[in-house]
Parts: sequence; structure tokens; C-alpha cells
Amino acid sequence: MHQYKAPLRDMRFLINEVLDYPAHYSSLPNGADATPEMVDAILEGAATLCEEVLAPLNASGDKEGCHLNDGVVTTPKGFKEAYAQFVAGGWQGLSFPEEYGGQGLPMSLNLFKSEMMGAANWAFTMYPGLSIGCINTLLQYGTDSIKSRYLPRLVSGEWSGTMCLTEPQCGTDLGQIKTRAEPQPNGSYVLTGTKIFISSGDHDLAENIIHIVLARLPGAPAGTRGISLFVVPKFAVAADGTVGARNGVNTGSLEHKMGISANATAVLNFEGAIGTLIGEPNKGLEAMFTFMNTARIGTAIQGVAHAELSFQGALPYAQERRSMRALSGKKEPDQVADALIWHPDVRRMLLTQKAVAEGGRAMVYAAAQIADKMFLAAQTGDQAAYAKFDNELGFYTPILKGFLTEMGLEAANLGMQVFGGHGYIGEHGMEQIARDARISTLYEGTTGIQALDLLGRKVLLGSKGKCVRDFSGTVLRFAKPHALNRGPIGGMARTLVRRTAQWNLLTTLIMLRASKDREQVGSSSVDYLMYSGFVMMGYFWALQAAKATELLASGTGKESAEFYTAKIQTAEFYFARLLPRADAHYSAALAPARSVMQMKASSFLMA
Ligand SMILES: Cc1cc2nc3c(=O)[nH]c(=O)nc-3n(C[C@H](O)[C@H](O)[C@H](O)COP(=O)(O)OP(=O)(O)OC[C@H]3O[C@@H](n4cnc5c(N)ncnc54)[C@H](O)[C@@H]3O)c2cc1C
Repeated sequence: MHQYKAPLRDMRFLINEVLDYPAHYSSLPNGADATPEMVDAILEGAATLCEEVLAPLNASGDKEGCHLNDGVVTTPKGFKEAYAQFVAGGWQGLSFPEEYGGQGLPMSLNLFKSEMMGAANWAFTMYPGLSIGCINTLLQYGTDSIKSRYLPRLVSGEWSGTMCLTEPQCGTDLGQIKTRAEPQPNGSYVLTGTKIFISSGDHDLAENIIHIVLARLPGAPAGTRGISLFVVPKFAVAADGTVGARNGVNTGSLEHKMGISANATAVLNFEGAIGTLIGEPNKGLEAMFTFMNTARIGTAIQGVAHAELSFQGALPYAQERRSMRALSGKKEPDQVADALIWHPDVRRMLLTQKAVAEGGRAMVYAAAQIADKMFLAAQTGDQAAYAKFDNELGFYTPILKGFLTEMGLEAANLGMQVFGGHGYIGEHGMEQIARDARISTLYEGTTGIQALDLLGRKVLLGSKGKCVRDFSGTVLRFAKPHALNRGPIGGMARTLVRRTAQWNLLTTLIMLRASKDREQVGSSSVDYLMYSGFVMMGYFWALQAAKATELLASGTGKESAEFYTAKIQTAEFYFARLLPRADAHYSAALAPARSVMQMKASSFLMA
């Protein structure tokens, strides 16, 4: 079974050469310490943790899963020790404020670390991963007393966090939430209700678990306008941070699921649990969006991580396994047959995985620069800057979450396909990657919900197409100077000029049709999201190819000529073989809503 190796060469290429992170960090007040040497040391340290500690537990954790005995949840063998190493290394606090014990570095460094950890062992990574959204929510909406009580030990990693939204009757439609919160004379609240599917909901890794819970106050308006947000610890926490008695949060069961078996997905029963209100009454969903947006970018990384891991598994197999001869004649005459990698269709699969992993990484790392500025604005209380960057990141978020997880899942499936029948059996670890990747298009808002968020909320209602025009402007500023180039970059630039015009036309046409038929947005949205993802990834591939071309010509790059040539060739593959899928999504997005709505609900069944 292949063991994960952190793709540091590609990460450094993006960080230092394509996206110029050194300049980005030097423009941030909290970026002074993120010198290239420091960034490199962090990348190396995280890579060692991932390769030597987390990756070796990926398959065993999957096999063993979590256990629930007498109300106590235990994680698979080795997880506790690995988590202790993660905490001792100070990894949780990397990007959180020094005031609470963190290192105060920009948020993007945390994303680089999370990508490596996620690829090495996604189920493990979800334990500290859920804490990140919990910390961000408390940082933004907690009172000083809440912050001082909970943040230091969440930031150190001694405690972990969860996100408790889903209930048996609702996951997407949170307006249906029933969990109740009764105010008490002392200002606290007593929570009663059941939450299901809670990731990292209970475990033995941390001393305490801090749940962020959506619930209703007595007499609250129906629907989403009557939901409030609470912090509910597993063990009571005194004002000075001392841990006290067990609170009324109990684990009813653990879900038996398709993948991420080593992450405890818990049914949590809140039975008279004491909690504290966060933010204003009935405005809980707004506050929860902080958590959800963090989690959505975190889940977009899952697409990249699983594409990378699956590619890393498939490549050596394609180089070693032999089958028949290449169509153009023997490539390895001394061998009984040529290796799989000589067959064009196997190359199509490997290059698709590579293009998704490296193209997706570029998209996430570019968005991370916006996240750095947004988190800083939130911390310094600069509301205008926060709103600007929140809007900008808000456009990227559903595309990254929806498109990259769909493509990451495809890449994980292709990894199995490269192995033929051997991909389907457990021994090589490829089927685990596909099982683990499957959840990514479901939780944190399904692809369908991301698509509605993008087209309905962000593009049409929120900006009347302005967010697409703004992003197109960025693409055109890059593409126009390259458009007359006679090499591969020229072709990519001209394609991007045409695609951005098409993207804006698509937006306008849907807007016009939606004004006549309200079902149009819902029937176009997933194709619109996929179209947007393909074009956006095209831009980030062209950006990488242009930089590789420039560095090849100047000879000033840090990487080898082979590396830069492969970058340009992968970009050419993307433009020739993956970007054309945008045409099918374009046509489907413009199909009249009638094509899906005309059938009577009773006519679906032909049995
Ligand atoms: C392993 C795992 C871990 C999870 N972790 C957490 C967690 O930590 N915390 C938490 O709170 N939840 C968690 N969840 C829950 C998860 O976020 C929800 O399952 C998800 O949001 C979908 O909700 P649902 O299952 O109720 O599906 P539903 O909301 O019933 O949706 C079913 C289908 O209908 C579609 N649909 C629904 N409404 C619409 C609409 N208006 N328009 C178009 N399509 C629609 C959806 O896209 C989906 O395809 C987890 C789930 C799993 C399986």
C-alpha cells in the first residue's frame, strides 16, 4: 500500500512562485513572522507529522473504527498518541491569536497544514478540524467571559469542538430545528433535544468537548428567524477555566457509515444540558455561518486531499503493473509487457487526477489569501474590510466546496480504476479513499445546496452578476497580455477570454429566464456551479502554466525544467480534455426548467 508523501514541491511552487505568498505575507500586519524560512519550516514540520504519524494510522483506523461502550467513545488504536503529538507540536494554535495562546500567523498556513493532514488521514484531521470553526465562532461572537473560559484550551488543542446543527428531521432545512433552550434565572440555558450525525461528537482524544449548538428559545419565531446559538461543554467549565462535572450531553450511538470510519459520527442527546447563549437571541444562524464557511473551505480541501492521495497511490501502480503492448509499439521490450502508464487511457485517468489535485490546490491557496485578509479584518474590527473580503470569499466558497469535492470524488474513483479489479479490494487502500471521499459532496451543504447558494444567493440576488464580472476582470487582466502569444499560453489565454464572456452571458440568460420561471434557478444551479468550477480551474491552470513558462525561459525558478514542463503539459491536458466539459454544463444550465419539472411526481415510478 502506498504511503502518503506531502507534495511539498508543488506547494512551494504555488506559494512562492505562482501566488507570491512572500509579498502577500509582508503586506499583512500578522504576516511579519511568516518569512519564507518560517513558512518552509512549518511545511516541513507538518509534512513530517503527516508522513510519520498520521498516514500510518489511516488504514488501521479505517479497519478498526470507533467504539462506544457504556456511554464512552474510544478512537482507534494510536489516535490518542497521535493527537497528543499534534497538541504538543502546537499545531492547533498556528493561526489563532497570541492572546489565547496561539501563534497568530495568517490563516492560510493553517490551510496548507490541513491539506497535508487531510490527505494523510482525513478521519483523524476532522477531530482538530471541527475545533477550528468552533474557535472562529467564539472569537467572532463570544463575550470576553466566554472567550477567556473556552479559547485558551481550544487553541492549545487540549479541548476540541463540534458543530451541532443536524436533527433527525432536518439537515439542509435548519428552520425545522426542534432542540429547545430554556432560560434560567442565573443567565444560563438548559438545552433539550437530539442532534444526529455530529462529527467528532464524542471521543477520548481531548479532555473536554465544546459543542456549538443551534436551538430555539421559548416563543421564538418559526423557521430560521427563531434559531439561537449556544456553547455547551461536555464537562462544565468554571469562569477560571477549571473543568467540573459532566454536563447533560450523552452519546446515544455512533453511526455505521461508508467511510471516515475512524471519525466518531455521534447521535448526541441533550438532556438538561447547561449552555450559554452566543450572539443575539434568534440570530444564531447568522453566527453559525462563520462556522459553516470555515468548514466549507475545510471541506473543499478534502477534494484536493483525496485527489492527491489517490493519484499518489495510482501512479506507482501504473508504472509497475504490466499489461499488453503500447499501440505504437513496444516501450519496454525487455519486459513481458509494457507498463500501464504507456496506455493513453491510463494516462487520461492519471492526468485527470493530477490536474484536479494541482488545479484544486491552486484554487484553494488563492482563496486562502482572501481568507487571511478577512480573518484579520474580523480580528481588528474593521467592518468595511471584513464585508469586502467576506463577499469576495463568499463567491469562491460554494465553487470550491461544490466543484472540488465532486472532482475529488471523481479523481478518487479514477484511482481505483487505474488498479483495475485490485482497486476494489481492500489491500491497496484505493477503495478506502473513494469511501472516505464520498461524504465530501454531502456534508457542509450538499452540492445541490452549494449550487443554490452560488447562483441564487451570491450571483443573482446578492450581486446581479457582479461577482462573476469582477472575477472575469481578474481573468481578463491576466489573459489579455498573453493572448497574442504563439505558444500554449496564448491558446489558453484566448480560451479564457472566450469563456469569461460565455460565463457572463450564461449568467444573464439564466437571470432573464428566472424572471419568467422561478424554477429556472433550481434547475440550472448544479450545471452552473460545475461550469463555474471548470472555468475557474482553467484560470488557475493557465496561471501556473504561464509562471512555469516564464521560469523555464529565465532559468530563475527553484524547480527543475522537468517540473515546469510537466506543469505546462498538465495545463494543456486540462484545457484539451477537462475544460470542454464546461460546454455540456453550459447547454444543460440553459435547458428550460420544464425539462425537469414537467413530469408529475406520481409519474416517476414505472414499477
Ligand atoms: C458522516 C457525516 C458527518 C456529518 N457531520 C455533521 C456535523 O458535524 N454537524 C452537523 O450538524 N451535521 C453533520 N452532518 C449532517 C450533514 O451536514 C447533512 O446530512 C447534510 O447537510 C444534508 O442534510 P440531510 O441529510 O438532512 O439531507 P436533506 O436536507 O434531507 O437533503 C436530501 C437531498 O435533498 C436535497 N435538497 C434538500 N433541500 C433542497 C432544496 N431546498 N433544494 C434543492 N435540493 C434540496 C439535498 O441536496 C439532498 O440531495 C454529517 C453527516 C454525515 C453523513
